[in-house]
Amino acid sequence: MEAGSAYLDFNATAPVRPEAIEAACAAMRVGGNPSSVHSAGRAARKLVEEARREVAALVGAEPGAVTFTGGGTEANALALGRRSETDILLASSVEHPSVLGGGRFASDAIELIPVDPDGVVDLAWLERRLGTETAPAIVSVMLANNETGAIQPVAEVARLAHAAGARVHCDAVQAAGRLPIDIAALDADYVTLSAHKIGGPQGAGALVRRDRSVPVMPLYRGGGQERSLRPGTESVAAIAGMGVAARLAAGEIGRQVELERIRDWFESELCTISTATAVFAKGARRLANTSCFAVPGVSAETAMIALDLDGVCVSSGSACSSGKVGRSHVLSAMGVAPDLAAGAIRVSLGWSSARKDVESFIEAWRRLLERRGGRAQEVIEAA
Ligand code: PLP
Repeated sequence: MEAGSAYLDFNATAPVRPEAIEAACAAMRVGGNPSSVHSAGRAARKLVEEARREVAALVGAEPGAVTFTGGGTEANALALGRRSETDILLASSVEHPSVLGGGRFASDAIELIPVDPDGVVDLAWLERRLGTETAPAIVSVMLANNETGAIQPVAEVARLAHAAGARVHCDAVQAAGRLPIDIAALDADYVTLSAHKIGGPQGAGALVRRDRSVPVMPLYRGGGQERSLRPGTESVAAIAGMGVAARLAAGEIGRQVELERIRDWFESELCTISTATAVFAKGARRLANTSCFAVPGVSAETAMIALDLDGVCVSSGSACSSGKVGRSHVLSAMGVAPDLAAGAIRVSLGWSSARKDVESFIEAWRRLLERRGGRAQEVIEAA
């Protein structure tokens, strides 16, 4: 990240932790293919297995239940295996696009679970739907939303889904390191993790199963790596970095209390600057690190450019992976009016955030709204 800039976009990617960089570089120096039996291969294997233990510990799973992938997107697709043509996937309407893509489910085999105005799944709707004759094969509900930070009642979802005979997938990419996660307490069959959201390198992730007996359908065939569930030579450097990041993230859950204080101060400042500020998912339990908000009439695209010029990096609440600002399916599922959603800005904090970063945002935001107010006044005076 550029020196002097305030980086407030951890939900997009977290800066890589120095310890993870060190671990990845050390792994590259080791060289060796983890499948080789010679000493260099065994040294690489050792790094992969150490990382597997760290990643398993982050979610309270057994190491043998961890399958490394190329990231969260791939882990989501891997979890969503369709065994028969009649299988249905039931996913919350606020899932990440990699879940809404459906894995191996065709688009007409995906049904969406509605959410309330705070973005939390409608459990009563889910219970009614699960009571019908066509039970879904998989129910997929994320632990915390990437745009708003809203936390979902995954354990209750799992109770209902399991009673109906469905398997449960939980995308915990944004929750990892921010909430304590215990796969058994969550009662999920599959949990998705991504390295770069916890301060590890981009391009590594994991699908963690409740235990080794939970079935997985590989996305493709090849070598026998990862017990043939994810063929292809492992990215040892990225995996080693992920392991270190998982260990450090697990030790930082307590820091969320401090982040929550910063976030609450931040949101109260926003509302002082403009009383018209709408904070999304404010009524839900939220991740302490995330704030998604809008001020009517302020376009997110324009604001992001101005903030960037001021050295502040944030995302638009509706930026898609191509970087373009589109309509947010999350805010739209929550019933947010399109005009207001077009102004959604997401500020997200993480392991290296300090209060001064958020203060920089507030100063830049105040200037931006004053300039806007000034322009509005000029228009009024000219009329
Ligand atoms: N799931 C959620 C909730 C995410 O926020 C993201 C990334 O933004 C992903 C999955 C995809 O992870 P990756 O970038 O590792 O493919």
